[in-house]
Amino acid sequence: MPRRTATPNPSAPEAPITVTGFALAAGMAPEYRLVDMSADTSEGALPSTVTIREVGPRDGFQNEPEIIPTAAKVELIEALARTGLERIELTSFVRPDVIPQLADAAEVLAAVRLPESVIGSVLIPNERGLERSLEVRGAAGGRPAFDEVSVFLSASETHNRRNVGRGVAESLAGLEAVIALATQEGIPCEAVVATAFGCPYEGAVPRVRVLELAEALAAAGARELGFGDTTGMANPVQVAAFFPAAREALGPGVELTAHFHNTRGQGLANALAALQAGVESFESSFGELGGCPVPAGATGNIATEDLVSMLETMGVATGVDLDALIACARRAQEILGRPLGSHTLVAGPVGELAAH
Ligand code: ZN
Repeated sequence: MPRRTATPNPSAPEAPITVTGFALAAGMAPEYRLVDMSADTSEGALPSTVTIREVGPRDGFQNEPEIIPTAAKVELIEALARTGLERIELTSFVRPDVIPQLADAAEVLAAVRLPESVIGSVLIPNERGLERSLEVRGAAGGRPAFDEVSVFLSASETHNRRNVGRGVAESLAGLEAVIALATQEGIPCEAVVATAFGCPYEGAVPRVRVLELAEALAAAGARELGFGDTTGMANPVQVAAFFPAAREALGPGVELTAHFHNTRGQGLANALAALQAGVESFESSFGELGGCPVPAGATGNIATEDLVSMLETMGVATGVDLDALIACARRAQEILGRPLGSHTLVAGPVGELAAH
């Protein structure tokens, strides 16, 4: 079988070169820009827009060794909210003695000011967390302090016990109550199934198990199902098979969200696989901040600036100003006093490369 090459033939620039469902657009810098063929409805065609929820202020800040001052968190959240990001996870109502990094959840929510267009969410671990969040939500009068809640459990029994100290069945029962109460309050719920693509303690996690939990959470009222590759174990082939199965199990009315970690450098490949499988909602963390409290070393969400860079250069609109986003990551580096892991932060946007 002849080897396929993506190198354009300069003698025939108008001839599109197909690379698994994509075409190089004539006149574009071919080494940088792959766009989907607008008439292509075959498998692998990309959506024209996607939604990104920035989870750095929660998933990122909770995994930093130091406690970031509240004022710095508010500064970073408000800067992120000016980049064009549509959704931001602001903080979490976990137990302050367990995650002291986010013990200032109420203070952050009281101080932060979001543009009307930006949807703020908070992570809720259990019934008590929801109660605490609701005490804060309407406290300031005017716009509620957050618009959505995210709840989570792990598909793996061992990871769930180590992460939240409960078995999966007990977590599910608690979250069903949380979702019911939030729904009653008119608050949309995202339910995240963590370790959906593999568990560091148990290994492979059966897809049927993940989808059973997802179906139960959707039945309880979750409008959005997030699937977390919590410790970076997913691969693109697995992801490509997973999301069509999730869509079939959950039906068309549930938003499917992909949450990948870059622990083994496969995060963006997994994001592309999800995109090609029809996913239009992603979670990521500026500066590649983040990880998971257990096991140690399970760090790194995919970086929002790397995701935005990849999507925009493929012709998938994110609505995000990449330069403004990189400025946020730079500011986070200053506040933390160390370099962060995102590639685009180091290399700069593709457009800047082309100008040299
Ligand atoms: Zn995460």
